[in-house]
Amino acid sequence: MIRTKKASKSSPSGRKSPSSPSGRKSPKFIFVTGGVCSSLGKGIVASSTAAILKSAGKKVAIMKLDPYLNVDPGTMSPFQHGEVFVLDDGAETDLDLGHYERFIDESLTGYSSVTTGKIYSEVLAEEREGKHLGGTIQVIPHITGKITEKIELAAQKSEAEILVVEIGGTVGDIEGEPFLEALRQMRNKHDGNCISMHVTLLPYLAASGELKTKPTQLSVRELRRLGVHPDVIFARADVRIPKKLLRKIAYFCDVQEDAVIPAETIRSIYECPLRFAKMGLGETLARKLNLGKLKFNLSDWEKGVSKILRTKKELLIGIAGKYNELDDAYLSVIEALKAAGYHHNRKVRIGWIDTEKIEEKDPEALQTLENVDGVVVPGGFGDRGIEGKIQVAQYCREQKKPYLGLCLGSQIMAIEFARNVLGLRAATSEEFDEDAKSKYHVIHFIPEQRTIRKKGATMRLGAYPAVLKKGTRARKIYGTDTISERHRHRYEFNNQYREAFEKHGFLISGQSPDKDLVELVEIKDHPFMMGSQFHPELKSRPFRPHPLFREFIGSLT
Ligand code: GLN
Repeated sequence: MIRTKKASKSSPSGRKSPSSPSGRKSPKFIFVTGGVCSSLGKGIVASSTAAILKSAGKKVAIMKLDPYLNVDPGTMSPFQHGEVFVLDDGAETDLDLGHYERFIDESLTGYSSVTTGKIYSEVLAEEREGKHLGGTIQVIPHITGKITEKIELAAQKSEAEILVVEIGGTVGDIEGEPFLEALRQMRNKHDGNCISMHVTLLPYLAASGELKTKPTQLSVRELRRLGVHPDVIFARADVRIPKKLLRKIAYFCDVQEDAVIPAETIRSIYECPLRFAKMGLGETLARKLNLGKLKFNLSDWEKGVSKILRTKKELLIGIAGKYNELDDAYLSVIEALKAAGYHHNRKVRIGWIDTEKIEEKDPEALQTLENVDGVVVPGGFGDRGIEGKIQVAQYCREQKKPYLGLCLGSQIMAIEFARNVLGLRAATSEEFDEDAKSKYHVIHFIPEQRTIRKKGATMRLGAYPAVLKKGTRARKIYGTDTISERHRHRYEFNNQYREAFEKHGFLISGQSPDKDLVELVEIKDHPFMMGSQFHPELKSRPFRPHPLFREFIGSLT
């Protein structure tokens, strides 16, 4: 192929490592792939690995390569894909990024989230701009080159010494092949600084009472066919894996014995870093990546996990959402509730409140609402179940049941208050009133200049500061007057109604620094009824619950 100077610059072989111009030491890369089937917990393996290395004082970052064709998960249904995790910089990402942040206790950036859609869009945009100078655009080297570029960029931007890279999907998926090819190229280019870990399943056959290694062998064979030899294998199983089997995997898959890590199903995902560290993962990685002698200190994890495992007393928290019983759709909310629960020595159980059934006055749904200790109305879009949510808020306000409203849940709180306290019976949000039948939009569109325009719609996305008012519950809870929280919404509180609300005990306790946008609200003389226009769940950590969740649960104990 004839290439011009410029075109060859965009080819992977011609590109310099991004670390070299700055004089920074070359970063190390740890790839995580999955075999046999999906849902094995690759994200937890990647996060745990990063947490172990961080505990030895290493600067780590994690990124996710998602082989699907969507540009980002922003437009994907939580039914299919779980929650959309929003980062400080406004990137809408896969829920695994939430695991990453919770495990390594660092805020990531959009550089940590790459999809096939993003890769192709950029390559095609370059092609349209003539940047490839008439060259033929091919999967190898252009797509794979763009993937390696993104990986190196993530390492450079995060300034990580070690970047853990999770490749979504399962080895054998058509969509995943360019990513595995990129991994092969990375191993070659960053020889000695790049290893790969493969997470597979050992199925259990009840009839013969044994775990089988063949699917693992086949999956590793497939990986090797693509030119990638795993350095570490994580064997997932629901039962204890005999040592003999681990040795067999090592032998048949050609990895060292201490590089086969048993990953049996355990009670809490937060036990994983401790388990893997105990199996010597840290030392194995240090040896394979030439990290020198490392000292791992996981004492915070030990303390936190022992508290999780010790806690017996339960609390029942109702979630009045749209994607009922779909834990993944509210993953961060549930994690934040659990963390707050453990902080107060309580194990949080979730009671799902079906708001459409509440609307129909279904006795079972009403009973659930009565039974739960407190209620969370989480974020959401669209008008399904809205009237039921408003009834839930009314019940909580009147019955003095603790209530935490997250984004949509906060807007619901305002609509309920307007209708039942201020007497504006037709109060609603512009979102649920497309035909503009109501005069009372207590929640309305955010002015466009305050949002980010994405294809199809505008949205206020990412971290923004808010100032908390003196003397409010919010100010007391946070213990500071300026906060930064993550947003993902199109509508906001209508300032026209501020005075009327405040006069009747619905306090605006947090607002944007220019005082224009309402950020936090609370009901006076209630055990706990607060709503945030942002998503506090995105910044909660397993052993350091978010203040709003902490005090919400605290009001119940
Ligand atoms: N649908 C509401 C809005 O766009 C709430 C969004 C959310 O809860 N994330 O403002």
